[in-house]
Amino acid sequence: MKLLFAAAEIFPYAKTGGLSDVAQALPATLVKQIDILSVMPLYDFIDREKFVLTAMNESFQITLGEDIYEVSLFEGMNQGVRTLFVYEATLCHCIAPYGNKNGDYLSNDIRFGIFSKTLVILSQMFNIDVLHLNDWHTALAALWAKELLPELHVIFTIHNLAFQGLFLRDSLERLGLEEHYFTPEGIEFWGDMSCMKAGIAYSDAVTTVSPTYSKEILLPEFGCGLEGFLQVHSHKLHGILNGIDTVLFDPLTDPALPKKYGAGKLANKKNNKIMFYKEYGLKDADKPLIVFIGRFTEQKGLDIIIQALPKLLTMKCNIAILGEGDEAMAEALKSASKNHDNFLIRFGYDESLSHRMYSAADFLLMPSRFEPCGLNQLISLRYGTLPIVNDVGGLHDSVQDIDDRARSICGQGIVLDKLSSNTIVRSVKRALQFFADTKRFSKITKANMHCDVSFEESVKSYLKLYRKNV
Ligand code: ADP
Repeated sequence: MKLLFAAAEIFPYAKTGGLSDVAQALPATLVKQIDILSVMPLYDFIDREKFVLTAMNESFQITLGEDIYEVSLFEGMNQGVRTLFVYEATLCHCIAPYGNKNGDYLSNDIRFGIFSKTLVILSQMFNIDVLHLNDWHTALAALWAKELLPELHVIFTIHNLAFQGLFLRDSLERLGLEEHYFTPEGIEFWGDMSCMKAGIAYSDAVTTVSPTYSKEILLPEFGCGLEGFLQVHSHKLHGILNGIDTVLFDPLTDPALPKKYGAGKLANKKNNKIMFYKEYGLKDADKPLIVFIGRFTEQKGLDIIIQALPKLLTMKCNIAILGEGDEAMAEALKSASKNHDNFLIRFGYDESLSHRMYSAADFLLMPSRFEPCGLNQLISLRYGTLPIVNDVGGLHDSVQDIDDRARSICGQGIVLDKLSSNTIVRSVKRALQFFADTKRFSKITKANMHCDVSFEESVKSYLKLYRKNV
């Protein structure tokens, strides 16, 4: 069996969020068991020399509507996984995968149409048996595969239903898609064209990244308007929990950390915290550090953290936030940081700093409104940092409350009973009391570090799907 695994971003070449981590870590685990090729676009911002990418002697044309596009191929190795890179000027001429500070690129329909159609051509060229698509950027490939390569087994993974790839109706013509697809059963969504619907409708199996999220998206609260459509396709919907790459995310070897540590050597975690405090002017390393790392969006509950901040900042703790996104949230954080020396805010995307923060912190605050899986809490478990989470999606499947005796999830943390600024304040109070109980805190932290947060277990479920025996 030969698998083609396709994503718009793969670590370390391009990363805007968890999709990139997963598109690296899952193939790196699968490659031990099956013949796999990964594929992503060769965006202009990717450094072809640093990553040792070589041109292949393959180029071809693809047609979308009336237009013809010239595609060429490159290749490289990513942690043992042969990775193909698709170059086409419209797709790749960009400074970030999906947009710039003014918003998403207007040509994203064509850009990812080119990528998606190319995936079907590559499937034929490389004798692929299973095409694994990820998120809307690849979803039209499911539709074209049904037309052009009906024998190809197609799996589509939804990493976040909130991003659907919606475009105006005229995109249909520009992409050369026939009108008969534009129905509620097909890719029409309230008068627009939905790439996400193509992935769901025309794939042989649909997965999402945690068992709980796979049930939640069948409900109006989490279904983003697609709950009815997903119910129709629920017979082929599976929830498989994400993992992380436990080689890249390993505090014993992580090159970003000044001091390496493991569950048996936690003193160095404290040393990392002392150095972090010194570098960023935070005081009193005995005070617990709570971090938030992520996109500034309502999804991540940052607006509710902002409401809770005045109270949180009066408590005996330091708070550090790293991320970017919504301007109003960034402004609110900036003004909160002016009057408090126990609050650090860093704007932007910084992989190395994020690793140092996971390692320095005692707690990760992650009160997401919805969370398909979430990787931050998995990274935190591995780095001995206790997650404080809302009880949704993948957070429900990977973290149980320290006082919950009824469940048997490996990861332990503080779980909010519902989401509000008051419950965040209450949970942080609980966390600080728990921190003061040094013996129990250290026992649970160490147990968390031993949890299996890798992809090893989930790969078994993917292999079953690839082999069609579910
Ligand atoms: P998302 O919904 O954004 O994909 P996930 O929890 O699935 O969230 O994955 C987020 C990934 O991106 C994690 O590896 C996290 O550490 C990383 N990350 C998020 N924001 C930043 C940032 N500002 N700087 C560095 N890494 C970040």
